[in-house]
Formats: sequence, structure tokens, C-alpha cells
Amino acid sequence: MSVQHPQRTHPRVIRAAVACSDHQLKFEKISLAAPRRNEVGVRIVACGICHTDLGFISPGAVLGHEGAGIVDQVGSAVKNVKPGDHVALSFQSCGQCDACSAHRPVDCEHFSTLNFGFSRLDGSSAYPQGIDGHFFGQSSFASYALVTEQNLVKVDKSLPLATLAPLGCGLQTGAGTVMNTLKVKQGDRLLVIGTGAVGMAAVMAAKIAGAKEIIALDQHQHRLDLAQELGATEALKTGRERNLQGQLDYVIDTAGVSSLDKLGQDALKDGGVMVRLTGAGGATLPRRRKILSVIQGDSVAQEFIPKMISLWQSGSFPFDRLLHFYDFEEINQAIEDTRSGKVIKAVLCWPQAS
Ligand SMILES: [Zn+2]
Ligand SMILES: [Zn+2]
Repeated sequence: MSVQHPQRTHPRVIRAAVACSDHQLKFEKISLAAPRRNEVGVRIVACGICHTDLGFISPGAVLGHEGAGIVDQVGSAVKNVKPGDHVALSFQSCGQCDACSAHRPVDCEHFSTLNFGFSRLDGSSAYPQGIDGHFFGQSSFASYALVTEQNLVKVDKSLPLATLAPLGCGLQTGAGTVMNTLKVKQGDRLLVIGTGAVGMAAVMAAKIAGAKEIIALDQHQHRLDLAQELGATEALKTGRERNLQGQLDYVIDTAGVSSLDKLGQDALKDGGVMVRLTGAGGATLPRRRKILSVIQGDSVAQEFIPKMISLWQSGSFPFDRLLHFYDFEEINQAIEDTRSGKVIKAVLCWPQAS
């Protein structure tokens, strides 16, 4: 059946999970301005929940930064996508500063404004007053998001969008740290502290890289069991760690627990490198040991997301085993299950998702 669509009236009304004061989210109908020249309107099909979302819950905020969906509308300056294209969303960058021009979007000089500033770069907002949107340039806990070409990645229409959604932050961060930042190679020894989605992605990537020792450390036995299935050569339960003094090339800390961070530092051999994916800063330790603070696994999403997809298709990056799907309406339950560690990666799906 062919239906003639009338000219769209703006602002568009969308459904968004808006945080309220009791730290619960509530679905509301809100208006969203039309895409600007450089913006792309995306009908969201699914969105992963990342721990960074939980840290930003405050009244009026529309969070969500692992969205995936279908392009609905494009601004006049948009070149690379058209309505109907399928896209996975990632972190935002400006596309114009020195770092972006040098193909280093994680170092974008506007990174913090564009991802955590709840506005466009010029300070304006497409959302009504009192609503904080544009989180990571997407705010995908909603039926619709305004993004740009900098934070979308076109994907093949045959791929399941709900499965791809979480590639845009957590999985990219863990796998990118191993592959892009540390360039782990055959025979290397590493420790991954915390086996949530980020840590599990690091474990799988280290296995692909041929690391000799991949030690996973976590407090949850069910996660350690899965980490071993996915490539960890040894599982250590928190509180029952063995002595790793000076043995490892790399430590990847995804947990941010200070006693474990210290254990990680001590486990490094001379010249070893520890990466903190916890937001804590870097440092230099004696004997050429380094601590790096890494963002998004130093990834260029348009390159790294397709790489992860092809590794998944080949069977060597089975990240779909980490996913637990929820209806979007169950967002508060999904957040609770994420907080408690019951699920590794919750993915919210609107009814049309397949
Ligand atoms: Zn930039
Ligand atoms: Zn995230």
C-alpha cells in the first residue's frame, strides 16, 4: 500500500525516557526540533545501557548513547546517509578541529561539550526547556534522536540493529583498548579487572590478538565463567587473587576499585602499561611503567564498528552472548539489573525491533 506522507510539521513529538528526581526514568512525550543542515534524524530501534548513563541520571536528562536505528530525515548538508539507511551510533566529535582533521576524534577539542554538555556545540538545544538532550550527540533513550555524520556508522540492512547497538561505546572501548591503544600481540600477558561488557570485549579482543595469558578478575562467578568461555585463560575472584607481582605486560582496569587498581599496578612488569577505563587519570610509575587513561579505545567509530561486526560474523568476537534484551518500557528494570550486575549488557528495544 502506498501512502502519501503529508509535509512534516515541526517540532516532532517523540517519546523519551526522562529522568525524574527520584532517579527513576519516566516516558514522556516531548517535542524535538527538526534536523539542522548538518543533522540526521534517526528513528531509534534499540539502545544499549552503559554505566556512564547511570552516572548522569539527573532530573530532566534524556540519556542513552548506544543507539541504533533507521535514518528518517537528513539536513541539507548531510552527504553520506539518506532516509532508510540503517545506522549504529557512537560518541560525538566536531569533525573540524585539529584532532578531528587528523582522524583522532577521541581527542576532539569539543569532546566534553559534545558528549556531556547536553547541548549542541553552539549551546542551543533541539529539546524543550527543562529537558537535557544531545547526550553523546544522541540521547537515544527515546524513539528518535538527532545525530550528525560524525557519530553515525552506516551498517548493512541485513544486520540486526538491536544486536549492533552496544558496539558504539562499551564494546568499542574494551576491544579498541586492546587493538588500537595497546596493540596487544601474540604472547603478551594481561589482566582485565572487571568483566562487564567493556572487560569482556577486552578479553575477546586479547584472544583474537593471540595473547598468551588473559587473566580475568571479577566478583561475580557467573561472569568469570563466561569470561573463560570467551577467551580468559584464568579467572580470579575478587578477594582470592594470587600474586601477580611484576608479571604482566598490560593491565586493563574497568572497575575503578582502588585496591584492585593497586594490585594491577603491582602486577606490571618493567615497561608495562596499565589502562584505566574508569575515568581516572593517567600517571607514570617507576621503571617505565605507565598508566594511561583511554577514551573509547582510541577508536574511529566508522572504522572500528565495521571491524567488530566482521569479527563477530567470523565467530571470533561473539559479543552477542553478553546481551540481554528488554522492551524499552522496562528501562527502570534494565537499569536495576545493570547496576546489580545481574546482566552484563542490557539492550532496550522498541516494539518494531526484530
Ligand atoms: Zn573535533
Ligand atoms: Zn558508554
